[in-house]
Amino acid sequence: MVSRQKQNADLVKNYEYAWDKYTKEDMDRVFSFSEGYKDFISKCKTERECVKEFIAIAEKNGFKDLETVIAEGGSVKPGDKLYANNMGKTLALFVVGTQSLEKGMRILGAHIDSPRLDLKQNPLYEDTNLAMLETHYYGGVKKYQWVALPLAIHGVVAKKDGSLVEVVIGEDDDDPVVGVSDLLIHLAADQMEKKLAKGIEGEDLNICIGSIPISTEDSSEKERVKKNILNLLNQKYGITEEDFVSAELEVVPAGRARDFGLDRSMVMAYGHDDRVCAYTSFEALMRIENPEKTCVALMVDKEEIGSVGATGMTSKFFENSLAELMNLMGDYSELKLRRALANSRMLSCDVSAGFDPNYPSVMEKQNTAYLGKGLTFNKYTGSRGKSGSNDANAEYMALLRRIMDKHGVTWQTAELGRVDQGGGGTIAFILAEYGMEVIDCGVPLHNMHAPWEIASKADIYETMRGYHAFLMEA
Ligand code: MN
Ligand code: MN
Repeated sequence: MVSRQKQNADLVKNYEYAWDKYTKEDMDRVFSFSEGYKDFISKCKTERECVKEFIAIAEKNGFKDLETVIAEGGSVKPGDKLYANNMGKTLALFVVGTQSLEKGMRILGAHIDSPRLDLKQNPLYEDTNLAMLETHYYGGVKKYQWVALPLAIHGVVAKKDGSLVEVVIGEDDDDPVVGVSDLLIHLAADQMEKKLAKGIEGEDLNICIGSIPISTEDSSEKERVKKNILNLLNQKYGITEEDFVSAELEVVPAGRARDFGLDRSMVMAYGHDDRVCAYTSFEALMRIENPEKTCVALMVDKEEIGSVGATGMTSKFFENSLAELMNLMGDYSELKLRRALANSRMLSCDVSAGFDPNYPSVMEKQNTAYLGKGLTFNKYTGSRGKSGSNDANAEYMALLRRIMDKHGVTWQTAELGRVDQGGGGTIAFILAEYGMEVIDCGVPLHNMHAPWEIASKADIYETMRGYHAFLMEA
């Protein structure tokens, strides 16, 4: 006969903190996994840097470039590992399964673009002996957060001769940093009366990059500070002012990810959204050998601005890569391609909002994620009556509960804030168009979209474990 206490224990679901279950050895694993992540997130601050790093590690783990296999007239068999690189900004990684692709895949999909300030095409100007750069912010940013902090410049300059120059300024300890000024409080009487959204305007996010004039015979010569900067850029990178027009230069917070909290339980970093889910997806896939179902990790660009363009999730890149893969396996037809997609299961790996005791009013405590309670499932996202959401099927969620519990993964479930408080979307609905099962799940954050975001090391670790369990079992 079951005791009354036991009966109650089975009936009530308590979402628990992952920390409580860890042994000493588990704690070591959690902390050491986060060290690898901290290195990655400190180094990879653009889409291109992420793709490059993922390819370098994947190649060491036996992944081959799909393009190379095609060019060499090769073929693909179960167990093979391949990647497809789209313009250096989107990446699809495959571990080919023993079952035919037609039976469907197990897909982890994350995005590797993050909110930031992009340099405009013609950015450089001089104003009152200061050299400045015009920017256009990218993604959803609270503009007032981007002033008065050290910023770095990452990106590429594509030169007319076809060469590509890679730029990283502001990350080494002896590198200079740049930044956007804020108004001194003493003279901010008018500014402080404005609404938060208008306190700092988008067009005022100009970066200061220098103040020494180039030395000339004629000190009345115009724009001597700008010329000095162009000189420096030319010496270091061999570029001229016109080269900015074919550049992708992203201004991002300078410096490494840091342990956060006196107990070092969290990581403060730029770009957790969504590189924490990209990294955990990638690490989960790297742990897969000879699966039954083909396992995929997708790292896409442009999520923060609507998944548009050739490198966004709405492009045909993934579908085309899959068609190539099926062809290399001697098993391509339009119908089989469609079946492969429709029979797939996917985790749309994206971050969630963690409950923040400083801002309790925007959350509904029963349906919010908590830092430390593990991988967070969002059955639906969207806003105002679930608009724009991918509402995952109940049966699919039930399957995922089974898998997570079987593998002892700590997981929780959440909505992005109170009803009618706001909302958001992900790439989930785009893949769902193929008729596959898709659900959003990932790491909960504090400070989402701020220059420095916070994630729990326990959640990062449980997320990787959850993604791995999904690839093995779904
Ligand atoms: Mn995201
Ligand atoms: Mn985002």
